[in-house]
Amino acid sequence: MNKVLEYFNKLNNTEEVFKKEIVVCGWQKIFKQTMISSITPYLFESLDIKEHIAKEKNENRDLRIKPKVYITVHDTGDTGAKHTAKFWSDTVYKEMWVDTKEPYKASFQYVVGNDGIYHNIPDNEVAYHAGDTTQYDYTLYNTGVKVSDKFELGISEDSFYTINGEKTTVPAPMFEKEVDGKVIKRVCTVDDINDQGICMAVDDEYFYLGETYFNKTYEKIANRGGNNNSIGIETCVNEGTNVWLSFMRCAKLVAKLLDENDLEIYDIKQHHFFSGKNCPQTLRVNNLWEYFLHLVEVEKDILEFVKEGYQIKLIPHSEYLEPNGVLTKLPKCVKGIEYTIETTKDDVVESYKYVKLV
Ligand SMILES: [Zn+2]
Repeated sequence: MNKVLEYFNKLNNTEEVFKKEIVVCGWQKIFKQTMISSITPYLFESLDIKEHIAKEKNENRDLRIKPKVYITVHDTGDTGAKHTAKFWSDTVYKEMWVDTKEPYKASFQYVVGNDGIYHNIPDNEVAYHAGDTTQYDYTLYNTGVKVSDKFELGISEDSFYTINGEKTTVPAPMFEKEVDGKVIKRVCTVDDINDQGICMAVDDEYFYLGETYFNKTYEKIANRGGNNNSIGIETCVNEGTNVWLSFMRCAKLVAKLLDENDLEIYDIKQHHFFSGKNCPQTLRVNNLWEYFLHLVEVEKDILEFVKEGYQIKLIPHSEYLEPNGVLTKLPKCVKGIEYTIETTKDDVVESYKYVKLV
């Protein structure tokens, strides 16, 4: 058995196929869908990216080139059946909602749906999706606090971040809210920080913190660098599609972008990290974020095999299993689902037949 088939053998032995009732959230409606986790966390299809780059005069194309340090994952929060990836790509391209003709004032690098993947803004350019404005770049500040194994963030009474109880040189933003025309201001507490935390880095000596701000819309401390320094991906959650397939496809795209931009799993952020918005809402409310990151890890591992020249194909032997690894339904009682994985490298074809109890 070669190393690719061995890798799948390990997945087959350790990964559970599971079914979960998920709630798909969007502004038109909220609907339930049964998610089935696929035969392995790997999606057996190649990335088919349709280039549909906005024209240079497009108001939602910024044209500034910035280094990319994050990947930002969104969902469209748009459950309308006709609001496919193509719909969203056309909406960015034409700067208006293509159904209502209302002006559209946002953009993102990619949109992923059951109908494919569209590329709208070049990866190295700024796009308008993260809600943190475009005036601030990803910046790290030396906190003056010596690095240690422990990292516990706090905020002092005079509004500086603290690490492990020690005051840093980095100021925390103030809470700000307008009530009846009056601005209420107070020092933030850690409860005001978005639930993905704030950017932290270390060198051999010191802790560093990223640039943060207080987002008045969502009333959370959030991070800068979303619009300028991340590649934004929208994932479609439109009714009538297999929403989980769109997230699996998104994970595959994220793995490729990590590889191309020399980024790691911890560089994948939710839109929430940059604004406090509940996005990607469907992953968040169904507690699927960690599993989504796991999909990216598996895709990243297998991408290494693909880069070495392996072609990988799944041959299903069950009516429930699609050639891309998606399970259309689960049998009523426990059953072995059989499939073969075939690899080709330098004209050498190898295969192995697996059985998965589901
Ligand atoms: Zn979003």
